[in-house]
Amino acid sequence: MQTHAFDVVIIGSGAGGGTVAHALASTGRRILVIERGGDVPSEPENWSPAAVWKDLRYRTMERWVDRDGQEFQPYTHYNVGGNTKYWGSVLYRLRREDFGEIAHRDGGSPAWPITYDDLAPWYDEAERLYQVHGDATADPTEPPRGPFPHPPVPHAEAMQAVVAGLERQGLHPSPLPLGLIEPGRPGGCQLCNTCNSFPCRIHRKSDADVCCVRPAREAGVTVWTHALARRLVTSRDGTRVEAVDVERDGREVRVEAPLVVVACGAVNSAILLLRSATPQHPRGLANSSGLVGRRYMAHLATMMQGFYPFRVNTAVFQKTVAINDFYLRGRHGSYPLGQIQSQGRTHGLMAKVVGDTWFGGHVTWIPEWAYDAWVARGVDWLAMSEDLPHVDNRVTLTEDGRIRLEYTPNNEAAHEELVREASRMLRRLGAWKVMAHSHRSKNTTHQCGTLVFGHEASSSVLDTYCRTHDVSNLFVVDASFFPSSAAVNPGLTIVAQALRVADHLRRTDLRLPEDAAAGTTPAAAQRP
Ligand SMILES: Cc1cc2nc3c(=O)[nH]c(=O)nc-3n(C[C@H](O)[C@H](O)[C@H](O)COP(=O)(O)OP(=O)(O)OC[C@H]3O[C@@H](n4cnc5c(N)ncnc54)[C@H](O)[C@@H]3O)c2cc1C
Repeated sequence: MQTHAFDVVIIGSGAGGGTVAHALASTGRRILVIERGGDVPSEPENWSPAAVWKDLRYRTMERWVDRDGQEFQPYTHYNVGGNTKYWGSVLYRLRREDFGEIAHRDGGSPAWPITYDDLAPWYDEAERLYQVHGDATADPTEPPRGPFPHPPVPHAEAMQAVVAGLERQGLHPSPLPLGLIEPGRPGGCQLCNTCNSFPCRIHRKSDADVCCVRPAREAGVTVWTHALARRLVTSRDGTRVEAVDVERDGREVRVEAPLVVVACGAVNSAILLLRSATPQHPRGLANSSGLVGRRYMAHLATMMQGFYPFRVNTAVFQKTVAINDFYLRGRHGSYPLGQIQSQGRTHGLMAKVVGDTWFGGHVTWIPEWAYDAWVARGVDWLAMSEDLPHVDNRVTLTEDGRIRLEYTPNNEAAHEELVREASRMLRRLGAWKVMAHSHRSKNTTHQCGTLVFGHEASSSVLDTYCRTHDVSNLFVVDASFFPSSAAVNPGLTIVAQALRVADHLRRTDLRLPEDAAAGTTPAAAQRP
């Protein structure tokens, strides 16, 4: 087997891995990113609803199995930039309260081992890196902070009317924080209606590829595409990772490095550790706590649409509004419900793909033009609630090596109340009909929590800098570390923690002199 040597190996190039690669690019160390997918080509299909929603051109064809052994195609993507190529780029900070313990109707959301103040400088840095636009004064749940690096994306005219209507209801709509590159400016983001779930053909969406991997490559970081990390190879005593076995373009190669950062996403990072079991780590690498793969979370998410038969929605870019009035408590109770945010416009074909599965797949005859006419008169929303960690919600390997995702959603009563609030809100805005659709337990887009971080090796897999407690040179830097899922989009928190970990690596394992260690990150000046 051919062997290659690097100083740092990063496995995965999404929100976590891409960001770490960028943050370490200037260290002068030999850095390799191993990415199982390829570069997403710039092509007309990027913005084609048929290619993205019907042909599933960019989604993995892999099949996972659920608790009952039923196969399903996960909503996830393997390519440079990971899932960030398809994200809606809604880039939220967790609320300050999310870092503490929170009582929910269905149980508890545990405290994080770090506070909002620990992460705040890295959130600042993350917002600069991903060019986040927002307004720090409008959201009643906004944590303490300075201004956003860029002003909010203005609401389209039709959404201005929606915002005014929400304010008349006594709600506090606020601009969604969005990572976009020069929105509305010549040569910038065109504020089109093919953003969320589509790759940006002109690279004006702030994804991990555009903001991090491309500049890192230019700075000398090596990226292997179509390279699948199969297993981590440990030292004889099991205390260090010595190499990564990789299938690269169909050939087995070995990469040796003194520092290994796993960033495959919450499901695949846990799977890689489980696949790397040894006699010293019989239940999977770094799994002395027994928690590897456990506590899987995804948000409870319902797509909603208010339908106005006599009003064509003229908004093209509609995804600019959030309502956080129910984030910390519902109208009638003391429990949190979650967040409501406006969504990208649904295309007729997207609605048909979903509609064709209704009624047991027996109503596929409704033509696309009918869906086009329907969605032209709709305004789209997302209601999102916190999913609570449960040890039986977990990722494992089947006997034949496939990924099994055992997941039962919880906190459903709170989510149903949020959906009722959203329905009421839309009806008060004049909607004749409110449609609701949820992927329920098959929604893997906001996967997190499978390698929880914490202070104690007995109750967590990673320490507070995402180093595994059991294996000294192994880090996991992606959505796996979340102790709780909160109810805002996870991306910015993954990026902020990746920057915090990269800074830690510069000062510790990479032993850079203090000046060089502080080199790339202005936030390093105010290091927690
Ligand atoms: C349609 C969609 C919309 C979304 N919208 C938002 C949003 O608006 N805001 C937000 O905050 N979040 C959003 N998300 C979620 C967000 O994209 C994820 O939370 C984030 O990308 C997770 O980052 P990660 O680093 O954990 O994993 P990923 O970004 O998924 O990166 C993991 C990478 O690892 C690679 N990989 C996996 N296994 C291996 C292996 N064995 N060897 C080599 N490489 C491997 C994968 O190919 C991938 O590139 C959205 C997701 C989707 C799918």
